[in-house]
Amino acid sequence: DEAREKRRSRETPLFSGLPGDIDVSFEFFPPKTEKMEEKLWDAVQELAPLAPEFVSVTYGAGGSTRERTHNTVARIIRETGIPAAAHLTCVDASKAETQKIAEAYWEAGVRHIVALRGDAGEPGAPFVPHPDGYTNAAELVSGLKEVADFEISVAAYPETHPDADCPQADLDNLKRKIDAGASRGITQFFFSAEKFFDFSDNCKANGIDAPMVPGILPVTNVAQARKFAGQCGAVIPDWMDGLFEGLDERPASRQLVAATVAAELCRRLYAGGVRQFHFYTLNRADLAYAICHMLGRRPVEVSA
Ligand code: FAD
Repeated sequence: DEAREKRRSRETPLFSGLPGDIDVSFEFFPPKTEKMEEKLWDAVQELAPLAPEFVSVTYGAGGSTRERTHNTVARIIRETGIPAAAHLTCVDASKAETQKIAEAYWEAGVRHIVALRGDAGEPGAPFVPHPDGYTNAAELVSGLKEVADFEISVAAYPETHPDADCPQADLDNLKRKIDAGASRGITQFFFSAEKFFDFSDNCKANGIDAPMVPGILPVTNVAQARKFAGQCGAVIPDWMDGLFEGLDERPASRQLVAATVAAELCRRLYAGGVRQFHFYTLNRADLAYAICHMLGRRPVEVSA
């Protein structure tokens, strides 16, 4: 409890002196148009010198981005050498189809998969598995391990997934995913360091030893974030509305507020011993770069 008290202390110096002894990773989504592709590529190149441990590329509902996810991941590996992970879901695909996609990834040099169940088309609708498909992420992890010895990350929920009967059931599910072969959890976004610490403690108490990496979402548009959060069991605290009040027409100020809030969350996590951070970049480099910088991270020479 002494350690708990210490990490919760507000006495940690602001950002000065943070040594940057952290691992960072960045999440992107596959671009739809050429213009979006350019924007994504600018972001990748700006963030690459921060030497991320890996970057990851999401997978659209129902496999709608199958090709684009593949092409984006393959291009990042080819042109930057950064280990890139492909997200893969169980939605609308048989086990055989999913394994084929995984084989193609392995052949393209992809060694890391973020294995997810995914969601049904309508927000909030119950998940209905494909008749010959995987019914949840734990099964997908096992299936992927049959294909090849991928490094596998899975989703984790500090505030409990909405489909779970109770927090314990969600932890049991997370343990099944780790026991099936995943080596890391990446969390849904959250805005309370305390909740993350409680979640980490609960994971350890349940025999989940794999690292749980906090997913950091710098919020610039609170209405949009609230809409998304409602679907995935994340809580947007009321104070966030107050912070963004009156800034609708002030995008530059919104950016500064977003960076400040996310950086402060990261500082508290750092003070509590967290050394790995996963950033939801939404294909923009500036906020993630600024927050990493404040955590003490500095660029290294890259050949790309
Ligand atoms: P699971 O781990 O399978 O769990 C889903 C729910 O079902 C949980 O409540 C769990 O407790 C319960 N459950 C599972 N199995 C059982 C069982 N046997 N008995 C009882 N309960 C069970 N979505 C995308 O479409 N594309 C993406 O690229 C994507 N990337 C993501 C990245 C991260 C880091 C995160 C946190 C989420 C991402 N998602 C993505 C969203 C994710 O697909 C949804 O949150 C989805 O609703 C659940 O996926 P899961 O892998 O957590 O599912």
